[in-house]
Amino acid sequence: MSEDVREIDTSCVLDCPDACSLEVSVEEGRVTKIGPGTGNDITRNFICSKVGRFADRLYHPDRLLYPMRRLGKKDSKGEARFERVDWDSALGTITERFREIRDTEGGEAILPYNYGGSNGFLTDDLVDSAYFARLRASRLGKTICAAPTSEVAKGMYGKMAGVGFPDYPEAELILIWGANPRASNIHLVPFLRDAKASGAFIALVDPIRTLSTDLIDLHLPVYPGADLPLALGMIHHWAEAGRLDREFLDGNAVELETLLEAASRWSLDRAAKEARVDRESVRLLADRYAEASPAILRCGWGLERNRNGGQAAAAILAMPALLGKFGRRGGGYTLSNSGAGKIDASKLWDTSSWTTRIINMTELARVLNEPLSPPIRGLFVYNCNPVATVPDQNRILRGLMREDLFTVVFEQVMTDTARYADILLPATTFLEHYDFKRSYGSYVVGATKPVIEACGEARSNVSVFAELGRAAGFEDEIFHWTEAELRERAVAAIELQGKPVSPEPFATGGIHRYDFDGSPNPVQFESVFPQTEDGKIHLAPACLGPAPYAYQDVRSESFPLCLITPASARLVSSTFGEFNLRELHLTIHPDDARTRGIASGDRVRVWNELGEVECVARVDAHVREGVVALPKGAWMKSSLNGRTSTALTPSNVNVVGGGACFNDARVEVAALR
Ligand code: SF4
Repeated sequence: MSEDVREIDTSCVLDCPDACSLEVSVEEGRVTKIGPGTGNDITRNFICSKVGRFADRLYHPDRLLYPMRRLGKKDSKGEARFERVDWDSALGTITERFREIRDTEGGEAILPYNYGGSNGFLTDDLVDSAYFARLRASRLGKTICAAPTSEVAKGMYGKMAGVGFPDYPEAELILIWGANPRASNIHLVPFLRDAKASGAFIALVDPIRTLSTDLIDLHLPVYPGADLPLALGMIHHWAEAGRLDREFLDGNAVELETLLEAASRWSLDRAAKEARVDRESVRLLADRYAEASPAILRCGWGLERNRNGGQAAAAILAMPALLGKFGRRGGGYTLSNSGAGKIDASKLWDTSSWTTRIINMTELARVLNEPLSPPIRGLFVYNCNPVATVPDQNRILRGLMREDLFTVVFEQVMTDTARYADILLPATTFLEHYDFKRSYGSYVVGATKPVIEACGEARSNVSVFAELGRAAGFEDEIFHWTEAELRERAVAAIELQGKPVSPEPFATGGIHRYDFDGSPNPVQFESVFPQTEDGKIHLAPACLGPAPYAYQDVRSESFPLCLITPASARLVSSTFGEFNLRELHLTIHPDDARTRGIASGDRVRVWNELGEVECVARVDAHVREGVVALPKGAWMKSSLNGRTSTALTPSNVNVVGGGACFNDARVEVAALR
């Protein structure tokens, strides 16, 4: 290796549960290679190919390098015609336009729109939130992912820490429900293999068989949206067979009768029929899970993306409690592990001062197109790409075309949304700034540091929002600290299992590990317990609303096929769409393809009342019949007609947490002639 090559340790903060340590090779100031680092024990052997190619994002022709403003007049939005301006001019325009909007319509006419797919704690919902709070801007309801499951996990267990991935090989049985580790949690896969080698029974409940038959023993291809009756049917089966752990439930849970009453309406026969799965397979899974000890439930997020998603998540997460699966290493459940650590942002700014209306991010299409008081006149998009990720793409595009809407996009690359900006600001990536992220999978907090100089004139979110705050005349300290001061204070606001953290890893791009009574991973009901107010498990938490476990029919009269949009191995949310998903494929079951005269490689149109997507068919029996799949987060250039899955997804929301219902989309497919 050349002496000019430096190898630098840092961490990945993308929207992924694995939180890899990274070793980045830098040659003459440019990133030349990214591989696994040694800080996180779980990820030291490999990283995903997506981040392995992060240099392609850094130096891509679509990388944003300078502030720009839109060229052209009426109806030119979306053409991505911009001219370079300097930072002072760009920030000055934003300050002036936001002042005008506040003076005429009030602060709530400004909407910050962010998610954090590519960012950690310092660069998402910190200085930016303080700025928008002081503008009295509308608040954003973060519902596009994990809203129903988070609400349920909080209401039911108070976000108790889940089983760590290294403990999976301890289990006799692993039940994976609505998750695809091969696409979005790849470091779980080696532990599944180890568990399998030790004789574990592994079952998958998912409309797509995402794991190979040498790894799983049973696949239940549940029809999307029918996870709730399936789970209630299993619970009813256990109740009838006297398998519930009454002693554990008496001591640790409340609201059992509400759950059992709802389950009593779902015999195994009826549940299997509604979920369109084989009844005997359901019985086998229910019996094997009841008998196994220890047994782990890996609950994912696929099951929440429909009108029954919150209720389904509650029924599924109740399962380990009903059968008393806790108290042993390798027993219990894993959902998001982010609740195990706390970061108190109120130590950095007055979070209680932001009390304006909340706009549900899933309803962006409605918000931009329908009457609203006050209407949205200023939109500031950062850390996300709503054109690619938010339901009802056609109406979002129409809204972004509005000439009376002033749109700022602060991004790393020219996304589908960035094309519609009035002012475009270049953002640094996690290889160009300091940040840190509390993982929602591995029990670590991973820190980043700049491994190269910022490309072009790109700046960090922290510096830009602080400057906007100062330009607006806000006196709050957070806008006046140096970035190092901000980082120091943010690290001091972290508490992991009630303990502060050492600042050292946060300055060096290292990893801070959790400590559960001397172990890096917890044992539920031994080292971690429900964090609900009364310390009990709530089996019918208030977030389920007035009709807990009520089921809404998922059949459709209008269009025959259910469209789902699962994570792919090519994108992290929509990140990397600029180069890593060149051609959009629709996965369709052979029976559904045959009746429509479709073969693999055919060009097809997929349509419903909201829009149409033209792409290429991939006939594949891994997806169940009656269901077709398009990848989540694809960019418009990947399809044949410039539209992707969100052009077909309705913007209705879940009663639990207001979550997005992507899998409520119903479509028809035909070959393009
Ligand atoms: S996206 Fe996930 S698997 Fe890939 S490097 Fe980041 S943390 Fe690791």
